[in-house]
Amino acid sequence: MRTADLNVVARRALADLVGYADELRDLDQALGDGDLGVTISLGAGAVIEALEQLPEDATAAELAKACAKAFANANPSTMAALVAGGLLAGSKTLVDSTEPNQADAARFVRAAGDNIALRGKTQLGDKTILDAIMPAADALEAGSDPVAALDAAVVGAERAVADTKALQSRRGRASWLQERSIGLQDPGATAFLRLLQCWQAALHAAPAERN
Ligand SMILES: [Mg+2]
Repeated sequence: MRTADLNVVARRALADLVGYADELRDLDQALGDGDLGVTISLGAGAVIEALEQLPEDATAAELAKACAKAFANANPSTMAALVAGGLLAGSKTLVDSTEPNQADAARFVRAAGDNIALRGKTQLGDKTILDAIMPAADALEAGSDPVAALDAAVVGAERAVADTKALQSRRGRASWLQERSIGLQDPGATAFLRLLQCWQAALHAAPAERN
């Protein structure tokens, strides 16, 4: 995909993601402080603005870096810092990519997940955003056809998000609830799932609708 098209798809997906802010706020309210709705809407808005400012010939790595910077600056939250760090780590895998493809997407998502695991001192099963990111990275790595691989990533993340209900939160404010966190769906993992779904819809949208 051309980087200019990637920019358009990203903006469209983020505009749609804002529609899930209330759902994410409610999930986060049950488990934490409820700020995830604001984190996502302010962050997405800032990233869209940053993407609009990028020159037509910006590289994929520059695009990802701009997203990281805008998302971090829009938000003082731990989640925003972790996501921005993940995007920055992902951007480093794109330095040689002129037309990002599925292999680039797989490397990007994996590097972002690895960075979040490291900086957030978290692992799979801790009931965090990582639980949705890693199955998506697995699907992107395994698939041969880009559309099918993204579909599989969405399915994997959907399953992972449903599975977070049975888990006990082991990181962040949600961990204070201890066993009372069991039965509740993880807001961070849900946010990543919603982003993937919005990305999928943005990719499938007719080019004329992408603006
Ligand atoms: Mg929160």
